[in-house]
This record gives sequence, C-alpha cells and structure tokens, in this order.
Amino acid sequence: MRDWFRDIADFFFPRTCQVCDRVLLHNENHLCTHCLLNMPRTEFVRDLDNSMAQLFYGKLPVQRALAYFYFTKGSDYRTLIHRIKYHGEKECGQYLGRMFAREYRLDDIWTGIDYIVPVPLHRRKEQRRGYNQSEWIARGISQETGIPLCCGVLQCKTHRQSQTQKGIYERYLSTRNVFELQPSSPLVGRHVLLVDDVVTTGATLLSCGEVLLQGGVKQLSLFTLAAARMT
Ligand SMILES: [Zn+2]
Repeated sequence: MRDWFRDIADFFFPRTCQVCDRVLLHNENHLCTHCLLNMPRTEFVRDLDNSMAQLFYGKLPVQRALAYFYFTKGSDYRTLIHRIKYHGEKECGQYLGRMFAREYRLDDIWTGIDYIVPVPLHRRKEQRRGYNQSEWIARGISQETGIPLCCGVLQCKTHRQSQTQKGIYERYLSTRNVFELQPSSPLVGRHVLLVDDVVTTGATLLSCGEVLLQGGVKQLSLFTLAAARMT
C-alpha cells in the first residue's frame, strides 16, 4: 500500500536528485544511483594519515578523521551541501550519514566510540534555519551504528557571522571561545565522534574539539559529510 501511495506522490510531485536534478526512480532516495555511485569518495577510512587528519597535527589529538566525499568550488556536490545546509534538505543529510555508516559498517572505525556529538549552531541561528544540519547527519550515523547521539551538552554560546568570506587565521580566531561543554557531561571519560557538515580549514572542529578534551572527553574522532579538496 505504501508503494502505491509513493507512486501516486511521485507522479504528481516528482522527487529529484539533489545533485543533478534528474527525476528520481521509485527506489531512489535523495540522490540518483548515478550520483551516489559517482560521488567523489575520500576513502579516508582506509588511510587514517589522510589530509583531513593532517589539518590537526600538533593542534588536536584525533583518533580518526573521516569524511564521506570531496567537494570543490562550483561542483555539483558543493551544491548538495548547500541544499542540506541552507535549503531545508535535512533528511538528505540524515540519509547520507546513514549511507556512510552502512557503506563502511565492516571497517574498524566505529569500535570504541561511545557517543556521537554534532557541532552545535547558536540557538538563534538554529531557530532561523529551523534545524541543525550536523545534527541530522549525526542522527543518520547513530541510526545505522546504534551509537547514541548526545545533543545539547556541547553548546554554541556566541553568535558568529558567516565564515565563508574569512581567511584561515580569521576563521580560527572567530571560532575561539565560541563553544562550551556543560558541566558533569556524560561525555567525560568517553570516546566522542564529533560530526559536522564540511571541513575546510578545520577551525570549527579544532575549536569544538579543544572544548571537548578540556572538558574531560578522553578520545576524539571527527566526521564530516564533505571535505574541501585543496589541490
Ligand atoms: Zn543525480
């Protein structure tokens, strides 16, 4: 019965691929099979000494630094991130979080992780946007792995301006002292997977990660849906 409803809904309101805008087939979700298969995967899972991990060398002790796919300026996969972040496609973020966890479920990257924590948005920004995209991505990973999601204990206390026009050093300075971990957090003594939508310079993850470790988190791993390809 549910399939029948979906056929009717697809007929009147065709769902389209969030990357190429082609109409999706009945069994496709958010991305068409072609765009899902051809996603420029980072394969950081297979190389823990990867370019994302290198962003944090000497700054933050990180167990695993993982990202699902690369994006470059102007690419269709950059548009995908934009839609997840700003245009209400939060379920697509959740879906891709789930797909990543499913695709790499047999890899030894989940062992020992106690909690999944999304990078928080400032309350006012989340109210304006209606959701936190990182929380939806984290939710997808949690659903697939069974690792519990922990929201609300890491908070964004300062309302930041958009970082997109800022340089690397300015970004770093603007993310310092922005986050805080609530006292007596359940994360103390635990291994935490910190989740964000994208990593570019690593400034946001660095700032959040510092707060988590200073607050008593024992080990830290990082996941972003996408990583900027620098070369
Ligand atoms: Zn497509």
